[in-house]
Amino acid sequence: MGDDVHRDDAFWTITVLEPILVQGPDPTATAINDAVMDVATIPISSYVEGPRVEAHHCPDCGADRGWTAFGHWTDPARLVCPAGHTWTPWEDDPA
Ligand SMILES: [Zn+2]
Repeated sequence: MGDDVHRDDAFWTITVLEPILVQGPDPTATAINDAVMDVATIPISSYVEGPRVEAHHCPDCGADRGWTAFGHWTDPARLVCPAGHTWTPWEDDPA
């Protein structure tokens, strides 16, 4: 068996089946709420709750599940949504 990998170099992938909930003020939610308040034809169910707990979602298409997360232990995670968009969540820690 030759899979004796160095831990620091391990490349991992995780399939994310459920929404990731993030806490705290979400500028996206605020923007959506503002838009909903401006456009009265949007059903009330479109109203985003918050700024409490929000589901993290794809910045391009808004998918909140079905992603694949991948990366190295030493690097920030990257996420891929079902439509193939790739982004780095939680980039507030500059490497
Ligand atoms: Zn997407």
